[in-house]
Parts: sequence; C-alpha cells; structure tokens
Amino acid sequence: MPIRLLSETTINQIAAGEVVERPASVVKELVENALDAGATRVEIATAGGGLGLVRVSDNGGGIPPTELPLAVSRHCTSKIETSASLDDIRTLGFRGEALPSIGAVARLSLRSRQPGAAEGAEILVEGGAVSGVMPAPANPGTVVEVRDLFFATPARLKFAKGERAESSAITDAVRRIAVAFPQVRFTLSGTDRQTLDFLPQAADENGQLARVAQALGAEFKENAVPLDAVREGVRLSGHVSIPSFNRANALQQYFFVNGRPVRDRQLASALRAAYADLLPRDRHPLAALFVSIDGRDVDVNVHPAKADVRFRDPGLVRGLLIGGVREALAQAGIRPATSGAQ
Ligand code: ADP
Ligand code: MG
Repeated sequence: MPIRLLSETTINQIAAGEVVERPASVVKELVENALDAGATRVEIATAGGGLGLVRVSDNGGGIPPTELPLAVSRHCTSKIETSASLDDIRTLGFRGEALPSIGAVARLSLRSRQPGAAEGAEILVEGGAVSGVMPAPANPGTVVEVRDLFFATPARLKFAKGERAESSAITDAVRRIAVAFPQVRFTLSGTDRQTLDFLPQAADENGQLARVAQALGAEFKENAVPLDAVREGVRLSGHVSIPSFNRANALQQYFFVNGRPVRDRQLASALRAAYADLLPRDRHPLAALFVSIDGRDVDVNVHPAKADVRFRDPGLVRGLLIGGVREALAQAGIRPATSGAQ
C-alpha cells in the first residue's frame, strides 16, 4: 500500500483509543470541560453503564454558536495558545482532543448558550460526521450528550465490562474529581444507579474535608488524620486513614496534583511505603492527598488521558509523601510497633 494521510475521522478514532478508554473517561472529560468553563453546578446522568447515555450539564460560560464547529474539531482549544503555556497548565484540558474523539466513536450533541446571549445553539457529531450549527433552546451553560458510545468502533465496544462495572467506574471518576472541587455541586443520576448529590462546600479546609467525607464516606473522616507538610516549596496536604481503617484494594486512594486528579504509580508506591510497617501487604489505607507544586516542576502532558504526571524531582515528592504521612500518623500516636528510630 502507498503511504497516505488518514481521514480526519480515522485520525480521531485512533486518538479516541487513548482518550476514551471507557464510559468513565467520557464522564471525566466532559466534567473537566464543565469545570474549566467555571461551572458551579455539574449534573451528570447516565444510562446503560454510560454506554447508552452520558449527559453532562453545566452552568459555566458556554460556547458561542460560531465556535461550536471548532469545539468538536481536533487540536482546537480555548485553553492554551502556544507550547509555552504547557510549562504551567492551569486548566484540566488543553489538548483539544476530547470532543472530536468522542464524536468519532459515538453520537455527540453539544448544546450551549453563553450567559448573556439571547439564544443557544447546537451541533451534532455522529461517528465523525459533523452537522451544521442549529439554533436551539438552552439554559445558560452547556449540555453535552453522548449516546451509543463505541457504536462506530465495535472492536472497542467488545472491551466494555458490563453495565455494573462501567457504572461504578463512572461513580469513582465523579467522586475523584468532586474532591478536587469542593465548592462545586455535583449530581450523578441515572437509570443504572443510585443518585449521588454532593452539595457545595465552603472554600476552606473544613469544606475540603466535608467534600472528602462526601466522596470517601463519613467514616473516613472519623478515622483519618490530617497532614500538611512542605519540603523545598512543594506542599502536601490532605488526609490519610489510620492503619486500622483500611481496605482490600487501593481504589479509595485519591491523589491530586495542583488540583488535578491523577493516577500516579509513584505517589501510590510512596503511600504504600509510608504504611509498610503498619499494614499487611494486602491491606491498603484510604487517602485524599493534594500536592501543590510549581507548574514548571511537573509535566501533565504525558498521556492523552492527562491522568499521569511526571515530576522534575520524583525523589523529593516521594520523600515528602513518606515523611509527611509518617509524621501525621506519629502525631496521632501511631508508630510502627517494632522500630524505635526512623
Ligand atoms: P480541551 O478541553 O482540551 O480544550 P475539548 O475537546 O475537551 O478540548 O474541548 C474543546 C473546546 O470546547 C474547549 O477548549 C472549550 O473551549 C470548549 N468546551 C468544551 N466543553 C465546554 C463546556 N462544557 N463549556 C464551555 N466550553 C466548552
Ligand atoms: Mg477537555
């Protein structure tokens, strides 16, 4: 075969392989967009484990009708201007890939109205085919509906894990991101789940802890110790559970870097190391830990899903986490039984 340039739809479907792994990734991307748009209220509805429907409605800044075609085009973003901005990313999104990727593998509708505008507008993308912009009644903000996820990529559809597993992955994704934005009200409802409603919390430490309790359960709050440690300008704060309050898996360990939920092996491994003498290897602490670091000392542009980070000085962050957690537990009178000195 000769070398050829792939069609836009094929390119988007390939990108979707990384950005949209499962329904929970759709929820994550759409909620991130709502938060980047300054929403204070985010409503999520799902059906069929998110494969049938994901709908995310927000009261954020909206998109002008003329920009709707750009919003669903690849590499179009309102969040960065040049690669210089990559040094210090403050928004959750920046790659301009989520909406075109979702539109390539599902039926996407994007309806939006800017708060000052008289009228809203809508655009549809079905398996990569983009409609014209149509006037549409809309509340201020944006409603994104995704139906029949992976209908255009049956190979991926086969990897879906079943309604229950997909719905619980969605719940987990919403819990994680909700912890990073305590002032925002999140509701998650649908035919496939019990409704979650996280009422907005204050913009202080108490509000933060209240939101953590909403996400990880009130028991966590009663069995957690606070920590706040700084090393060379990097701050680690949040809560970790006392060793006796543990789980058989590590699903309830939430890590955030500059407000972004991340799944970072190094942070998880540091947490494990901090509890090494306190917990059997098959038991795991619960945690909600926030790392604040100069944007230039961390790279979030590692993977299209934006859940991985790379620290310029991983040893510093690891040491801070292990030291910070041990110190917080020691403050609460919890020390490894065997060791005298650290
Ligand atoms: P990114 O978030 O990386 O910019 P997306 O494909 O997720 O890329 O979104 C493309 C653009 O569409 C965003 O940059 C933003 O301008 C606009 N957009 C998407 N969702 C929303 C929303 N809920 N509210 C306002 N604007 C949105
Ligand atoms: Mg986005």
